[in-house]
Amino acid sequence: MTAHTIFDASRRKQDRTSLTESAAGLTESAAGGSLRKSQRGSAALLGPMPAVISTASPTALKRPNRFPIGAEARDFMRRFYPDAAPEDWNDWRWQSRHRIRTLPELERIFTLSEDERAAASRHTGSLPVGITPFYASRMGLDDPMEPLRRTHIMVGDEFLRGPGEEDDPLGEDHDMPVPGLVHRYPDRVLFLTTGFCATYCRYCTRSRMVGNAGGEYHFSTHEWEKALDYIEAHTEIRDVLLSGGDPLSIGDDKLDYLLGRLRRIKHVEFVRIGTKIPVVLPQRVTRDLVRVLKKHHPLWMSLHFTHPAEFSPEVTEATARLADAGIPLGSQTVLLKGVNDDAAVMRTLMHGLLQRRVRPYYLYQCDPITGSGHFRTTVDKGVEIIRSLRGHTTGYAVPTFVVDAPGGGGKIPVNPDYVVGRDGDALVLTNYEGGRYRYVDPEGALGRDRNAGLADAAE
Ligand code: SF4
Repeated sequence: MTAHTIFDASRRKQDRTSLTESAAGLTESAAGGSLRKSQRGSAALLGPMPAVISTASPTALKRPNRFPIGAEARDFMRRFYPDAAPEDWNDWRWQSRHRIRTLPELERIFTLSEDERAAASRHTGSLPVGITPFYASRMGLDDPMEPLRRTHIMVGDEFLRGPGEEDDPLGEDHDMPVPGLVHRYPDRVLFLTTGFCATYCRYCTRSRMVGNAGGEYHFSTHEWEKALDYIEAHTEIRDVLLSGGDPLSIGDDKLDYLLGRLRRIKHVEFVRIGTKIPVVLPQRVTRDLVRVLKKHHPLWMSLHFTHPAEFSPEVTEATARLADAGIPLGSQTVLLKGVNDDAAVMRTLMHGLLQRRVRPYYLYQCDPITGSGHFRTTVDKGVEIIRSLRGHTTGYAVPTFVVDAPGGGGKIPVNPDYVVGRDGDALVLTNYEGGRYRYVDPEGALGRDRNAGLADAAE
């Protein structure tokens, strides 16, 4: 059997068991269609949408998937899901099916502010509310300002468009040679595999396209083939980043197929997966999923963390399983006003990541997505946070702070400046404590443009 026929058989099986959810006011589908940017309501023209979330593999059904349940989660489960057994709670499909997606569901769990209630009533289209029961158990139920809750329940500010904000600020749509594949840098591509996420972050860079299968963008495993053909034909592509949506929401069989196809392309040296699922739906990191991932090394993973409140026994178990599978783990964090724009919070987050074998990788300035102004800090704030980390803690705990340049300029690192100027043959630098140091560098040009008046520079 060829790879294609294996995939087709798997797709037929998954289509029969697709998980499609809808609810008044806040609707989406766990299934995908074509990722092609098309007219609203044109999903029917594109044919039936194949499932993204699969059913359990026969192996998974036979063997219980043991997973810890932390104290907060256990209390939450007893209070809000009294009929659920621990096995239900630890089943990622149960968690997906029971995501909080409607205003009545939100009101059953949270004490909503007037602002949240009005925003949830008003919202339509992409980026619906979607919160797994597990992730909700980490949130402040009565406090609208609690950090995790702020990032997942909409407020009225989301309907405002601030200066410089756009629906596609990074200009990704202009760099798509085929639907779902962003080819901006010569040697690497961003492969948007699905429009489904386990939870929807209110500041999402792809808020225009996630969580709305019937909207402007559609995602399809059928479209994967066009993207794979493109990658195959472009021998300069050595690095493929799978993103979306969340690639770990794709069922094991399909993910296995996709990774296998990519690994068979000789010039693709390695594959990365960008995901938030180990944080918001850690139960998805089953032994079977890990077995699939392990087959396709070298495979790297970027985990989207926001705040230390996300650390739990469940997340520790998920990251341990991934790290034990030999997958190098990095983190991505968006700097968010009132959520994590605090040096102490960020340090706790970075230290917690290292303890869980996740290397802090990127700290992002919040992209100018339409309706994200209430989350955006100044760029200075990011520099201040990096300055508070560099030299004050383990170097591994310091991420790279970047601004993703609007219009497709790519990630631009913005760092605290430690160059003071020059003193004769020496470059004068300042360290994390503000001390000045001369480094003999007679041929160097760095710092020559600064008239720092450095005659009294320290030795
Ligand atoms: S998990 Fe990622 S893709 Fe999904 S809503 Fe959050 S930021 Fe967007």
